Amino acid sequence: MQKFLFTNKLTTVYINPFDPWKGKLCTCPKKYSFSPYTGCSHACIYCYITSYIPNAFKARPKKISFRKLIRELNKVDTFISMANSSDAYTPEEKDLGLTRKCLKIFKERGIKLLIITKSDLVIRDVDLLKEMRTSVSMTITTLDDKKAKLIEPMAPPPSKRLEALEILKENDIPCSVRLDPIIPTINDDEIEEIVDAVAPYVKHIISSTLKPRNDSMKRLRRIFNIDEYKWKKIGNSFYLPKEIRFKYLDRVKKACYKNGLSFASCREGYPFNAGSCDGSHLIKD
Ligand code: SF4
Repeated sequence: MQKFLFTNKLTTVYINPFDPWKGKLCTCPKKYSFSPYTGCSHACIYCYITSYIPNAFKARPKKISFRKLIRELNKVDTFISMANSSDAYTPEEKDLGLTRKCLKIFKERGIKLLIITKSDLVIRDVDLLKEMRTSVSMTITTLDDKKAKLIEPMAPPPSKRLEALEILKENDIPCSVRLDPIIPTINDDEIEEIVDAVAPYVKHIISSTLKPRNDSMKRLRRIFNIDEYKWKKIGNSFYLPKEIRFKYLDRVKKACYKNGLSFASCREGYPFNAGSCDGSHLIKD
């Protein structure tokens, strides 16, 4: 059992131990979770934050007391993952700059940070990031901007995300890609193409198959025939049959190795051999 310096029972407000609903298949290292926003306006069709965040697809900035945030940061003894139930570069960030303010505080304190995003807005902060102990994990689920509009309607198109990866690489900021989720009949035909396209810019790929909950199941019905598959409930999520999941992950792994990249799966029970699953091993020291 991992021991954290503080727990949810204490009066932590902003930074919490990462807890993937005690998922048995989670292989994440010990880390903390921080989100400048509640909810996320990217409104991805497969996203399950609607199952526990009210009005989830309308991001609201948190009212952050920076003094309190700094007190919490003083207790952090490993890296922070930003963010897990929202994107720190949700469209509102462009005007509000809350994530940028937090980054400045993290930078001053030498905090190790893993940024998970779907937005090219991250390159606005390259001036800070290149002097930080950080790594960026960019989610790319398709190379087709039109298809992305269908599944991630309010997120920047993948063409912009690829451009962002190129700029991050030019600035020596280590990156990984999340090829997550793989959705049968929607993006499973693109697996090798995606890996080949991102390979020049990243060192590691994390992949995962679609794991809807009840709420996202309903939305997903609009784009593909859910009932064609025999779903198995594991924890809070529905999983595709193992043979389908593992076939997809075999393909991702093969494409990664062909390109000299490390590979990991996320909450799949699929074996991998990489420095970490989430790409945190790339964080600069
Ligand atoms: S970017 Fe992430 S948190 Fe935001 S809607 Fe999409 S899946 Fe959900």
